[in-house]
Amino acid sequence: MKSGVIIVGAGPVGLMLAGELRLGGAEVTVYDRLTAPAGESRALGFNRRAAESLDQRGLLPRLGEIRWGPMGHFGGVRFDLGMLDEDHSGVLGLSQARTEAALEGWVTGLGVPVRRGYAVTGFEETAGGVVVAFEGPDGPGQEQAGYLVGCDGAGSTVRTLAGITARGTESTRGMYTAEITGAMPRPRPIGERLPGGAMVVCTPLGEGRCRIVIHDRRLPARPDTRTLTFATVADAWQRLTGESVHAARPHWVWARGNDAALADSYRRGRVFLAGDAAHDLPPLAAWGLSAGIQDAVNLGWKLAAVIRGTAPDTLLDTYHAERHPVGERLLRDARAASAVYLGDAAMTPLRDVLGELAGHRDTAARGQGRGVVACGAGRAGADRWQAVLIRPDGYVAWTAPGGGGGLEDALGRWFGPARGTVGER
Ligand SMILES: Cc1cc2nc3c(=O)[nH]c(=O)nc-3n(C[C@H](O)[C@H](O)[C@H](O)COP(=O)(O)OP(=O)(O)OC[C@H]3O[C@@H](n4cnc5c(N)ncnc54)[C@H](O)[C@@H]3O)c2cc1C
Repeated sequence: MKSGVIIVGAGPVGLMLAGELRLGGAEVTVYDRLTAPAGESRALGFNRRAAESLDQRGLLPRLGEIRWGPMGHFGGVRFDLGMLDEDHSGVLGLSQARTEAALEGWVTGLGVPVRRGYAVTGFEETAGGVVVAFEGPDGPGQEQAGYLVGCDGAGSTVRTLAGITARGTESTRGMYTAEITGAMPRPRPIGERLPGGAMVVCTPLGEGRCRIVIHDRRLPARPDTRTLTFATVADAWQRLTGESVHAARPHWVWARGNDAALADSYRRGRVFLAGDAAHDLPPLAAWGLSAGIQDAVNLGWKLAAVIRGTAPDTLLDTYHAERHPVGERLLRDARAASAVYLGDAAMTPLRDVLGELAGHRDTAARGQGRGVVACGAGRAGADRWQAVLIRPDGYVAWTAPGGGGGLEDALGRWFGPARGTVGER
């Protein structure tokens, strides 16, 4: 079988990318080693920009009832985005499992095969594509494709096989988390700092569920999630809060450190990385899902255009050029958030200053999977035209006046040479 693109990973980023590629006309197959979705709540929402991307594809209704809110926090310092002129409310309290189910429904409706129970184990790049090796329910197999994208999360197999190094910061603090029913500790949605530099979070998730998170210097800095038991999490919770959750039913437990890593390159030849495979952030920053969705919408239309033959291969290099700097900023911000969130009493003055600063005071462009040029008369009249070129991912690529260069140059850069048709790229 031959696909235009093989995506490894049916997490939110792989699924979003699959939909974007299909909208651009590419054949795509998604592989995931899990036989069924993990069903874990993980990212409890996403930011405004990610929501706009989903809205551009008409996906918000698929998420069911959603709660919007302008409240956020940086390392536990609250800020209210409602003070800004534009609405920057993000989606709050939405289980990642629901987001993934909505995306999977969308991509399967677009005809994308999602092959579950297939672990990708290797690949070989050839002159015209990649040959991907997998271990499936019927044993080992191979599939050819034009391109391979690793959306296979932190510890990405594709990244390792491609020889792309991920660098970042070592873990200094461990965390445990568990999602439970049958016990409801006092809510501490953005965390409660405790003596000795410990911090606990309890986020109610509805229907009697909640997530508890523990940061404590006494936890191993690099805890092993495979050997973590709920009893260990419950013991640590009780030691810090005095509340027993031992009788609760755990739905999943998880541990990791506050380390963060960024892939040196988001592209090597015909292989790309997106989402956690490209940038692995500690969840206390809560930016992973939003950033990954933006990776997917950035890469999707470009890769589809190159496969269609309507854009040059160089367009694909703009993916790394645009998204890698975002990854660098995410890593820097995650380090800062970790210091503010988990630092001891010496950090209190900094938290206070940040809290004070946070109290002081784009239009979402709607495309339908295509580039759009919008024009209008300027205030001075019809002799002063204003124009804006909007890419399929909703970003403004060029403006007049002020964009530099002509519209034709901008169209050539982002959409390839003219093909003689008008209105659609
Ligand atoms: C406890 C927790 C809380 C979090 N909270 C937040 C939050 O509040 N906000 C936020 O934005 N983010 C949060 N995150 C991070 C968020 O969950 C991730 O950023 C997001 O899941 C990344 O999506 P992804 O598609 O890149 O990777 P993943 O969701 O990790 O998906 C990767 C997929 O690849 C598959 N896979 C891996 N290797 C292979 C292979 N070799 N072959 C085939 N398939 C493979 C896996 O089975 C998996 O399904 C949290 C994460 C955790 C664990």
